[in-house]
Amino acid sequence: MMRIDMVSLKTRLIREHNRIYKCWMRLLWHIYGMQSPLVLMVHGFKPTKEDCKSSFEMTAMSFERLMTYLTDNGWHAMTYDELKQMVETKQWKQKHFYLTFDDTYDTVYTEAYPVLKKLNIPFTMFITKGLVGTKTFITMEHLKELTKDPLCTIGCHGLEHKVFRDFTPDETKCQCTEEKAWLEQTFDIQVDSFAFPYGRIVEVSNSNRRQIAKMDLSLAFSAIEGTLRSAWWTSNHYLPRVNVSEAFVERFTQGKHIRYKDCEGR
Ligand SMILES: [Zn+2]
Repeated sequence: MMRIDMVSLKTRLIREHNRIYKCWMRLLWHIYGMQSPLVLMVHGFKPTKEDCKSSFEMTAMSFERLMTYLTDNGWHAMTYDELKQMVETKQWKQKHFYLTFDDTYDTVYTEAYPVLKKLNIPFTMFITKGLVGTKTFITMEHLKELTKDPLCTIGCHGLEHKVFRDFTPDETKCQCTEEKAWLEQTFDIQVDSFAFPYGRIVEVSNSNRRQIAKMDLSLAFSAIEGTLRSAWWTSNHYLPRVNVSEAFVERFTQGKHIRYKDCEGR
Protein backbone atom coordinates (compact mmCIF):
# COMPACT_ATOMS: atom_id res chain seq x y z
CA MET A 1 0.00 0.00 0.00
CA MET A 2 2.80 2.34 0.98
CA ARG A 3 4.57 1.62 -2.29
CA ILE A 4 1.49 2.53 -4.36
CA ASP A 5 1.26 5.86 -2.50
CA MET A 6 4.94 6.58 -3.16
CA VAL A 7 4.58 5.92 -6.89
CA SER A 8 1.49 8.06 -7.25
CA LEU A 9 3.19 10.89 -5.35
CA LYS A 10 6.17 10.72 -7.70
CA THR A 11 3.88 10.77 -10.75
CA ARG A 12 1.98 13.70 -9.31
CA LEU A 13 5.20 15.63 -8.72
CA ILE A 14 6.41 14.97 -12.28
CA ARG A 15 3.09 16.14 -13.70
CA GLU A 16 3.24 19.24 -11.50
CA HIS A 17 6.78 19.94 -12.70
CA ASN A 18 5.57 19.61 -16.30
CA ARG A 19 2.62 21.93 -15.63
CA ILE A 20 4.80 24.64 -14.05
CA TYR A 21 7.29 24.35 -16.91
CA LYS A 22 4.58 24.73 -19.52
CA CYS A 23 3.02 27.71 -17.71
CA TRP A 24 6.40 29.43 -17.76
CA MET A 25 6.94 28.70 -21.45
CA ARG A 26 3.44 29.94 -22.24
CA LEU A 27 4.18 33.21 -20.43
CA LEU A 28 7.58 33.60 -22.11
CA TRP A 29 5.97 32.92 -25.48
CA HIS A 30 3.74 35.98 -25.02
CA ILE A 31 6.62 38.15 -23.80
CA TYR A 32 9.04 37.29 -26.58
CA GLY A 33 6.65 37.06 -29.52
CA MET A 34 7.15 35.51 -32.89
CA GLN A 35 10.10 37.52 -34.25
CA SER A 36 12.39 35.76 -31.76
CA PRO A 37 14.77 33.09 -33.06
CA LEU A 38 13.11 29.71 -33.51
CA VAL A 39 14.23 26.11 -33.79
CA LEU A 40 11.62 24.37 -35.93
CA MET A 41 10.83 20.69 -35.25
CA VAL A 42 9.47 18.64 -38.16
CA HIS A 43 8.68 14.91 -38.34
CA GLY A 44 7.32 13.21 -41.47
CA PHE A 45 5.06 14.13 -44.36
CA LYS A 46 1.67 12.82 -45.46
CA PRO A 47 0.19 13.08 -48.98
CA THR A 48 -2.89 15.16 -48.04
CA LYS A 49 -4.13 17.28 -45.12
CA GLU A 50 -6.81 14.62 -44.44
CA ASP A 51 -4.03 12.06 -43.88
CA CYS A 52 -2.47 14.22 -41.12
CA LYS A 53 -3.84 12.64 -37.95
CA SER A 54 -1.70 14.52 -35.40
CA SER A 55 0.20 17.78 -35.07
CA PHE A 56 3.40 15.84 -35.82
CA GLU A 57 2.29 15.27 -39.41
CA MET A 58 2.07 17.73 -42.29
CA THR A 59 1.97 17.78 -46.07
CA ALA A 60 5.08 18.39 -48.17
CA MET A 61 3.19 21.21 -49.85
CA SER A 62 2.72 23.04 -46.53
CA PHE A 63 6.38 22.46 -45.70
CA GLU A 64 7.48 24.07 -48.95
CA ARG A 65 5.03 26.92 -48.37
CA LEU A 66 6.54 27.61 -44.95
CA MET A 67 10.16 27.45 -46.15
CA THR A 68 9.36 29.80 -49.06
CA TYR A 69 7.47 32.19 -46.77
CA LEU A 70 10.39 32.34 -44.32
CA THR A 71 13.00 33.06 -47.01
CA ASP A 72 10.74 35.58 -48.82
CA ASN A 73 9.92 37.46 -45.61
CA GLY A 74 13.39 38.21 -44.30
CA TRP A 75 13.92 35.22 -42.01
CA HIS A 76 17.54 34.04 -41.95
CA ALA A 77 18.09 30.28 -42.15
CA MET A 78 20.94 29.71 -39.67
CA THR A 79 23.69 27.17 -40.14
CA TYR A 80 24.37 24.82 -37.21
CA ASP A 81 27.46 26.87 -36.30
CA GLU A 82 25.46 30.11 -36.30
CA LEU A 83 22.84 28.49 -34.08
CA LYS A 84 25.50 27.21 -31.70
CA GLN A 85 27.16 30.62 -31.47
CA MET A 86 23.82 32.33 -30.85
CA VAL A 87 22.91 29.92 -28.06
CA GLU A 88 26.35 30.06 -26.44
CA THR A 89 26.64 33.89 -26.56
CA LYS A 90 22.90 34.50 -25.93
CA GLN A 91 22.97 37.17 -28.64
CA TRP A 92 19.38 36.63 -29.75
CA LYS A 93 18.65 37.96 -33.23
CA GLN A 94 15.19 38.66 -34.59
CA LYS A 95 13.86 36.61 -37.53
CA HIS A 96 16.43 33.82 -37.39
CA PHE A 97 15.45 30.16 -37.55
CA TYR A 98 17.03 26.73 -37.55
CA LEU A 99 15.37 23.63 -39.00
CA THR A 100 15.44 20.19 -37.33
CA PHE A 101 13.91 16.83 -38.25
CA ASP A 102 13.19 14.24 -35.55
CA ASP A 103 13.24 10.45 -36.12
CA THR A 104 13.95 11.19 -39.81
CA TYR A 105 11.46 9.53 -42.10
CA ASP A 106 12.47 8.75 -45.68
CA THR A 107 10.07 11.52 -46.78
CA VAL A 108 12.64 13.99 -45.42
CA TYR A 109 14.89 12.82 -48.27
CA THR A 110 12.19 12.47 -50.94
CA GLU A 111 10.00 15.50 -50.10
CA ALA A 112 11.91 18.04 -48.00
CA TYR A 113 15.49 17.71 -49.25
CA PRO A 114 14.79 18.96 -52.83
CA VAL A 115 13.11 22.09 -51.36
CA LEU A 116 15.98 22.70 -48.91
CA LYS A 117 18.58 22.35 -51.68
CA LYS A 118 16.65 24.76 -53.88
CA LEU A 119 16.32 27.36 -51.09
CA ASN A 120 19.76 26.64 -49.57
CA ILE A 121 18.40 26.00 -46.06
CA PRO A 122 20.67 24.16 -43.58
CA PHE A 123 19.12 21.53 -41.29
CA THR A 124 19.83 18.89 -38.65
CA MET A 125 18.42 15.37 -38.84
CA PHE A 126 18.15 13.60 -35.47
CA ILE A 127 18.81 9.93 -36.13
CA THR A 128 17.80 6.88 -34.10
CA LYS A 129 20.04 3.97 -35.10
CA GLY A 130 17.30 1.40 -34.43
CA LEU A 131 14.93 3.10 -36.90
CA VAL A 132 17.28 3.56 -39.88
CA GLY A 133 16.14 1.41 -42.81
CA THR A 134 12.95 0.19 -41.06
CA LYS A 135 9.33 0.80 -42.13
CA THR A 136 8.98 4.38 -43.39
CA PHE A 137 12.24 5.68 -41.89
CA ILE A 138 15.24 6.91 -43.86
CA THR A 139 17.20 4.29 -45.78
CA MET A 140 20.91 3.79 -45.24
CA GLU A 141 21.59 4.83 -48.83
CA HIS A 142 19.70 8.14 -48.48
CA LEU A 143 21.26 8.83 -45.09
CA LYS A 144 24.75 8.30 -46.51
CA GLU A 145 24.06 10.73 -49.32
CA LEU A 146 22.72 13.39 -46.96
CA THR A 147 25.69 13.18 -44.58
CA LYS A 148 27.91 14.30 -47.49
CA ASP A 149 25.90 17.50 -48.07
CA PRO A 150 27.24 20.55 -46.12
CA LEU A 151 23.61 21.69 -45.62
CA CYS A 152 22.94 18.61 -43.50
CA THR A 153 24.08 18.13 -39.88
CA ILE A 154 23.49 14.87 -38.04
CA GLY A 155 22.48 14.65 -34.38
CA CYS A 156 21.77 11.76 -31.96
CA HIS A 157 18.20 10.81 -31.05
CA GLY A 158 18.95 7.76 -28.87
CA LEU A 159 19.78 4.22 -29.94
CA GLU A 160 16.19 2.94 -29.71
CA HIS A 161 13.83 5.93 -29.31
CA LYS A 162 12.80 5.13 -25.75
CA VAL A 163 11.67 7.39 -22.89
CA PHE A 164 14.81 8.58 -21.09
CA ARG A 165 13.23 9.23 -17.68
CA ASP A 166 13.15 5.53 -16.85
CA PHE A 167 16.81 4.90 -17.72
CA THR A 168 19.60 4.29 -15.21
CA PRO A 169 22.65 6.58 -15.64
CA ASP A 170 24.44 3.71 -17.45
CA GLU A 171 21.55 3.23 -19.86
CA THR A 172 21.36 6.99 -20.56
CA LYS A 173 25.08 7.04 -21.29
CA CYS A 174 24.85 4.01 -23.56
CA GLN A 175 21.90 5.43 -25.55
CA CYS A 176 23.94 8.52 -26.42
CA THR A 177 27.58 7.54 -26.55
CA GLU A 178 27.06 4.29 -28.48
CA GLU A 179 24.84 5.99 -31.02
CA LYS A 180 27.20 8.96 -31.36
CA ALA A 181 30.14 6.60 -31.95
CA TRP A 182 28.13 4.58 -34.51
CA LEU A 183 27.14 7.71 -36.45
CA GLU A 184 30.66 9.16 -36.37
CA GLN A 185 32.36 5.94 -37.48
CA THR A 186 29.78 4.88 -40.07
CA PHE A 187 29.53 8.24 -41.83
CA ASP A 188 32.90 9.79 -40.95
CA ILE A 189 31.30 12.88 -39.35
CA GLN A 190 31.36 14.77 -36.03
CA VAL A 191 28.16 14.60 -33.99
CA ASP A 192 27.70 17.59 -31.68
CA SER A 193 23.97 17.68 -30.84
CA PHE A 194 21.24 15.54 -29.37
CA ALA A 195 17.42 15.61 -29.23
CA PHE A 196 15.62 13.75 -26.44
CA PRO A 197 13.16 11.17 -27.84
CA TYR A 198 9.64 12.38 -26.85
CA GLY A 199 11.38 15.23 -25.04
CA ARG A 200 8.69 16.64 -22.75
CA ILE A 201 9.36 17.17 -19.07
CA VAL A 202 7.29 14.09 -18.18
CA GLU A 203 9.68 11.99 -20.29
CA VAL A 204 12.99 13.63 -19.37
CA SER A 205 14.32 13.92 -15.81
CA ASN A 206 16.66 16.52 -14.33
CA SER A 207 19.34 13.85 -13.98
CA ASN A 208 18.96 12.91 -17.68
CA ARG A 209 19.57 16.55 -18.59
CA ARG A 210 22.53 16.95 -16.23
CA GLN A 211 24.09 13.79 -17.65
CA ILE A 212 23.67 14.89 -21.29
CA ALA A 213 25.20 18.29 -20.41
CA LYS A 214 28.38 16.53 -19.23
CA MET A 215 28.77 14.56 -22.48
CA ASP A 216 30.67 15.70 -25.54
CA LEU A 217 27.61 17.44 -27.05
CA SER A 218 27.29 21.25 -27.41
CA LEU A 219 23.50 21.42 -27.70
CA ALA A 220 20.54 19.25 -26.77
CA PHE A 221 16.92 19.83 -27.74
CA SER A 222 13.62 19.20 -25.97
CA ALA A 223 10.09 18.95 -27.30
CA ILE A 224 9.04 21.83 -25.03
CA GLU A 225 7.46 24.64 -27.03
CA GLY A 226 9.14 28.03 -27.01
CA THR A 227 11.36 30.52 -28.79
CA LEU A 228 15.12 30.42 -28.25
CA ARG A 229 14.89 33.52 -26.06
CA SER A 230 13.28 31.27 -23.46
CA ALA A 231 16.45 29.15 -23.37
CA TRP A 232 17.73 30.87 -20.19
CA TRP A 233 14.95 29.00 -18.41
CA THR A 234 15.66 25.64 -20.03
CA SER A 235 19.52 25.53 -20.50
CA ASN A 236 21.63 24.76 -23.59
CA HIS A 237 20.97 21.07 -23.07
CA TYR A 238 17.19 21.29 -23.06
CA LEU A 239 16.46 23.89 -25.74
CA PRO A 240 12.85 24.74 -26.60
CA ARG A 241 11.55 24.25 -30.13
CA VAL A 242 8.44 24.94 -32.16
CA ASN A 243 6.50 21.98 -33.51
CA VAL A 244 5.57 22.63 -37.14
CA SER A 245 2.01 21.44 -37.77
CA GLU A 246 -0.52 22.22 -40.49
CA ALA A 247 -2.16 24.72 -38.08
CA PHE A 248 1.16 26.46 -37.46
CA VAL A 249 1.91 26.83 -41.21
CA GLU A 250 -1.60 28.07 -41.87
CA ARG A 251 -1.37 30.92 -39.36
CA PHE A 252 2.31 31.75 -39.79
CA THR A 253 2.17 32.11 -43.60
CA GLN A 254 -0.87 34.37 -43.28
CA GLY A 255 1.04 36.66 -40.93
CA LYS A 256 -1.42 35.86 -38.13
CA HIS A 257 -0.45 36.02 -34.46
CA ILE A 258 0.92 32.61 -33.44
CA ARG A 259 -0.63 31.22 -30.31
CA TYR A 260 1.28 28.92 -28.00
CA LYS A 261 -1.18 26.11 -28.76
CA ASP A 262 -0.34 26.32 -32.50
CA CYS A 263 3.20 25.12 -31.72
CA GLU A 264 2.33 22.29 -29.34
CA GLY A 265 3.04 18.71 -30.33
CA ARG A 266 -0.08 16.66 -29.62
ZN1 LIG B 1 11.60 11.23 -31.88
